[in-house]
Amino acid sequence: MTPIQLAIAGVGKIVYDQHAPAIAGNTDFKLVATASRNHSIDGVTAYKSMAEMLASGTAIDAISLCMPPQYRYEAAREAIRAGKHVFLEKPPGATLSEVESLRNLAAEHGVTLFASWHSRHAPAVQVVKRHLQQHAPRQVKVIWREDVRHWHPDQEWIWQPGGLGVFDPGINALSIVTEILPQAMFLKQAALEVPSNRQTPIAARLAFTDALGTDVQADFDWRQTGEQTWDIIIETGSTHVHLKKGGHELWIDGKQSELPVEGEYPSLYQYFCQLIRKQASDVDVAPLRHVADAFMLGEHIVTDAFV
Ligand code: NAP
Repeated sequence: MTPIQLAIAGVGKIVYDQHAPAIAGNTDFKLVATASRNHSIDGVTAYKSMAEMLASGTAIDAISLCMPPQYRYEAAREAIRAGKHVFLEKPPGATLSEVESLRNLAAEHGVTLFASWHSRHAPAVQVVKRHLQQHAPRQVKVIWREDVRHWHPDQEWIWQPGGLGVFDPGINALSIVTEILPQAMFLKQAALEVPSNRQTPIAARLAFTDALGTDVQADFDWRQTGEQTWDIIIETGSTHVHLKKGGHELWIDGKQSELPVEGEYPSLYQYFCQLIRKQASDVDVAPLRHVADAFMLGEHIVTDAFV
């Protein structure tokens, strides 16, 4: 089959770390162009903006949008209106309504829209999902603690409205939890700690439940130095499940499970290809909705300035 001619808009950390190698390893895609103000990829035709790229006449079937979420809607709108399939990095937008708008626009134009959640493609996720269909969860503890200075140096957008703060990594945990739990959960209580000189939280504690009364607690913190923690611990009636390293390691009743070795981004691009070939879209906003609920319901606590 002819490869899908792919472009990337918003070239930065995640493109260099993950998108470019995943695309290079997938013969279903050919990377033909980038649209980014200051960055490019060696050997790939570079444009400064989405408008310039679309006007260039370069044959493009699909575009991955990897700029920060606050700047993604306009780019997505332009791409969809030009008839391109669109891959949205997570989170899919700065608001729920703009993602809804893109979903409708993609349907009108008959193109694929994929709101990606890379953590859902971690190898343990589908294994745990199947386990929880057999063993109903009673208690879930999410501990997502990392060092913002290490992972987000010089990224001002994460501290600005729409940048989500600690929910930028926290939404990855929520994308896993919403994928594996058999029941839809909802937020009961939240506390968000916001540095006195910033607009978005540096830490958040969240309590959810669902129609069966499952207790789901989440602890997101960006102030962790030393060992980093991306864990989800689940007690069912009969088993103890521990996902470690963001879903890359799984322990059930103290015994480590064997997992497939495929990486998150190679798996994301395989799935994007399937969606395009099936003329389907996948736009699940559940993780973003929980974050919006946390901003709506959560107590806001002013904490030490972040410098
Ligand atoms: P980044 O490096 O800070 O930004 C990506 C690129 O977006 C920048 O290099 C910049 O390219 C462009 N950009 C920045 N501000 C812009 C603006 N105002 N208008 C248009 N373009 C702008 O961010 P990132 O870490 O790659 O993250 C991008 C997205 O991927 C985020 O949604 C993030 O949550 C997600 N993500 C990141 C990671 C990670 O580990 N970093 C992991 C998974 C997902 P130009 O200057 O060339 O325009």
